[in-house]
Order: sequence, then C-alpha cells, then structure tokens
Amino acid sequence: MDKQEQTARTDSYFCLKDYDAYGFDLDHTLAKYKLVNVFNLSYDSISNYLVNEHGYDARIQHDLHKYKDFIAKGLVLDIERGNILKLGAQGEILMAKHGTKPISSDKLIDIYGGDLMFEHSKTILKTVKNSSKDYRFFENYFDIPGLVAMARIVDILDEKGGSDSKKHSYLETWSDIMKALMNCYTYEAFRMDTGGFFPGIKKNPENYVEKCSDDVKTWLKELKGNNKSVFLVTSSYIDFASLLLETIIGKDWKSYFDISVFRARKPAFFTDGHPFLRIDDNNIEKEPVQDLKKDGLYSQGNHKELETFIANITNKKHPKVVYFGDNICADCFPSKNYADWATVLLLEEMDAEGYLCSDGTVPGHENDGEPSKKRSKFEHSSLVTPEEIEYLLTEEWGPFLYHDVKDEKSINNGSRIMNTFWGSVIAKYSCITVPSLEYIAGVPLSHKFQKFTTEEGNTKGFHPGIPSSLLP
Ligand SMILES: [Mg+2]
Repeated sequence: MDKQEQTARTDSYFCLKDYDAYGFDLDHTLAKYKLVNVFNLSYDSISNYLVNEHGYDARIQHDLHKYKDFIAKGLVLDIERGNILKLGAQGEILMAKHGTKPISSDKLIDIYGGDLMFEHSKTILKTVKNSSKDYRFFENYFDIPGLVAMARIVDILDEKGGSDSKKHSYLETWSDIMKALMNCYTYEAFRMDTGGFFPGIKKNPENYVEKCSDDVKTWLKELKGNNKSVFLVTSSYIDFASLLLETIIGKDWKSYFDISVFRARKPAFFTDGHPFLRIDDNNIEKEPVQDLKKDGLYSQGNHKELETFIANITNKKHPKVVYFGDNICADCFPSKNYADWATVLLLEEMDAEGYLCSDGTVPGHENDGEPSKKRSKFEHSSLVTPEEIEYLLTEEWGPFLYHDVKDEKSINNGSRIMNTFWGSVIAKYSCITVPSLEYIAGVPLSHKFQKFTTEEGNTKGFHPGIPSSLLP
C-alpha cells in the first residue's frame, strides 16, 4: 500500500483511541431529556406567555399532544410569509405548509418560482447559522415548541382574515414568539424562578432527565485514563447545568471532567475569542481569567484557550480533540469548521425510527466487524419510549434525512441517498452519527468506525447501522 493509499484508508475511519481529548455537550447529549415532558413544559411556558403578556388567542393554550405529528426536526420558518419549509440538500423546497395547513404545488410555484428555491437557502447552506430576521430553523428540541405556537397563530390570523395586515402580523408574531422563547430560556430565569421552564425542572428534575447509566459513567472514566482529557462545554448556565449534572451523574459529577465550561454561547465559542470568566461561589460570573486550572469551572470562553489548557494537561503540542453533541449548527458545524475538531453527532431520531445492525444478514451491508448491539433490525431502542417516538417521527413531514422525490437515482449501495438539507449537513460536518452515548459507550475504544465520505448523500457514517428511513 503506498503512502497516499494508507492515508486515505486511515482517513476513512474514526477511532476514539486516536484522540487526546474528548469534549461533551450537556443538553440532549450527556443529559437525555424525557422529551414528552420537556416539550410540553416548554410549550406551556411559551403559549401562556403569548396569551397572558401579548393577548394572543387563548386557543393556542392546548395540549401539545394535539399537534405532535406536526413536530419535526429541521423545519425552516419563512418568517415574512408564515410558511414552514422542509428543505432539500441544495436548499430547494421539498414540502411546505402555511401555518399548519398544506400549500398546493401551484401556489408554491407562485410564491417561490419554478425551481422552488427559498431565497435564503444559499445563506443557510453556507453559514448553517440561525440568526436572521428573515428565517429561523428549528433544529433543536428546545426551539420546536416555538414553531408549533407560530404555526397555530398563523392559522388563527388567517381565519380572522384581513390579508393586507397579514405581512406585518407574521413578523410581529414571530418577534413576540422570540420574546416568549427568551422568557422561557433566559439563564436568569433559573435564579429568579420565572418563565415556567426552569421552575418546573427545578421542582422535579427526575421528571425531565434520565440518569446516565453506569456503562456511560464507566466509559467516561475510561476515556479520561492514560493522560487523556475529558471536558464539558455547555451553553447552559452553571446553576441549571449543575442541577442537571447532579441529577444525571451524581454529586461527584466534577470528577468526570478536567475542566467544565458553562454558558459557552456555542457557536460563538468557536468564533469570537471571548475570555473565560471566573464563577464565584454564588454562581455569579466574575472577572476574566488568563490561566485555566485543572478541575476548574468557568463561564463563556473560547476554543483556542481551551486547546492550550488541553495541550498542557495531555502533554501534546497539538492535541487531537473530538466533541460529542446533538446540535448540528452549534456543536458539529463550528467545532469542525473553526476548531478542526472531530465530531460525533447524537441523533435521537435514529433510535426512534430504528436502524439496521451490521450483522451480515442484510443485503448490501456486509459485516464490518462492528460489535452487534443487542437489537434486531428495525427494533426500536428501549432508550426511547413509544410516546417519544410519536413526537420524534412525523407522518406529516416524513423523515428528517430523506424525502421521497420518486427519483430512480436515489438509491446507491443498498441505501437511499440522503436528500434533505440536514442529511447533507450531517454527512459534511460529523465524522460519525450515532443514536446515543449509550451505544458508543458499549463499543471498545479501539473500534474503527467508518466515517462519512465527501460523496454527496452518503450514509457511511451512521452507526450501528443505517437509519431505517434511508433503506429502500
Ligand atoms: Mg445539546
């Protein structure tokens, strides 16, 4: 094998043992939420605020369950038009609704033109950034209840008529929903017991998050052995985050990390060079610190100084870092793009829809020696409850990674080609994508996982197997 060939081969595999440091996001990564409870808590907080503070129609204060099939990860809101879009890999509109109501294909062409291109798709493809006055995408579970509220209000505004004022109304509505999201999630709300969300979790955290299994805890300790480093980088503020950590790991949670960073403001943590701040005993942010200490707890910060810290404790000039997260635009894209870290994406939808195990029995999937993980093909994981599956999967929008476009070229090597926007981003910005930490913690550190390749729509990096929505 010549050198080039050898590099290509090692480049196509991901092995945890090859890394010096392992970083973790908290929410929906180390902390697996009880999704149904947390969705409902957020939706109640958001809808109560909109009705009580901004006088919106009280019909939006319904049980979220009623719209569970409308909930889908990755949808994009065209704010000005009140339309909700499912985008394809090139940014084209695969499907759209106005509020919760379908839009006919003729109407869709009228609005977006024959190529069905959303005018902001290029920006979304390029930046994977959510800060815009024109659109908003809903790629994390905290935001999604805001989309349901928006869609319901669009329905109600339309019902009430007055098409001339609608344009203004949609923009205004979205601005009020942003205020509702802020009211729900602003970090001060934890301390001040406001907004409904944090007070609900504070009262009974076990009702909202799962405990980490002993397998995951043992695995974290194993990762930290042999001069390697394990760290936490979460955008949650320390008061809320430490309550979660105590609930999921236990009182000794600090011993699992060489350093813990809170309120990291990802993705800005990877782009803006903000200093690390000291946190005092009352969890208040204090002055900037220059020198990061082992076992320290800090707020804000940036990836460059963190890497210096990691270099010092691992004794490696250029430590190789891998980061685990659930959020494509805040965890995977920036850590890979700006910090050149390897990334592992956790995708709960994989557990919800099921996936194939590579046990050699399925055509097109030879056994690549991957440890088989206790479940047969298409079986759902026990980590996701049947009620959660109802919220995670949607008939209305179809799968997150695939949209049926009746194209014969859409099948390759026994797998459908991922043709949604988020599918293409996952293949580009994660090395591998797995359903949970639980899965990866059960695989030996020396295991070589096949990575996603640069080939468009490829599904090679999904482990332990291809999600069932991608199987023909
Ligand atoms: Mg997260």
